Amino acid sequence: MMSLAVGDSACAGTCRAVSLVLDGEASAADVLAVAAHLRRCDRCRRFASAVADLAFTLRAARLERPVRAGQLQMSGDGPPDAPRT
Ligand SMILES: [Zn+2]
Repeated sequence: MMSLAVGDSACAGTCRAVSLVLDGEASAADVLAVAAHLRRCDRCRRFASAVADLAFTLRAARLERPVRAGQLQMSGDGPPDAPRT
């Protein structure tokens, strides 16, 4: 029986490698192997697409700066837009 490198073990390896590729931590050989597998395997292509979308969302979320607790304190004069007479 010929191995077409599409199967559960190849898919498991590809799924692990996809996250490395998206993180920029995969070797050039890994990138080529993942790309070659994705061309043949619909299941892994869907997985890679979903992971890429998630990674993009997470990276976008990381760009938002968290508000520090100290910045939430009011000065005591009321809201900044309160009329001052
Ligand atoms: Zn696959």
